[in-house]
Amino acid sequence: MAQPIKTGSKVEPLRKVRPCPECNKPSQREHYPFCSDRCRTIDLSRWLKGSYAIPVSDDESKADPTDD
Ligand SMILES: [Zn+2]
Repeated sequence: MAQPIKTGSKVEPLRKVRPCPECNKPSQREHYPFCSDRCRTIDLSRWLKGSYAIPVSDDESKADPTDD
């Protein structure tokens, strides 16, 4: 019983492989653009911390949270 052979199993990069922004290792498709889920988490946590560092504007005269 012959099984169908899948052609094109070889993964060809459609675009330039960019290194992981965290450790500069080649990024993996499943974790793109990171090399691993760990680096993704690190980057995410850093981004979240960064957002906390952004000072909250007290100027509410322009921005009205409640749409009248
Ligand atoms: Zn990495």
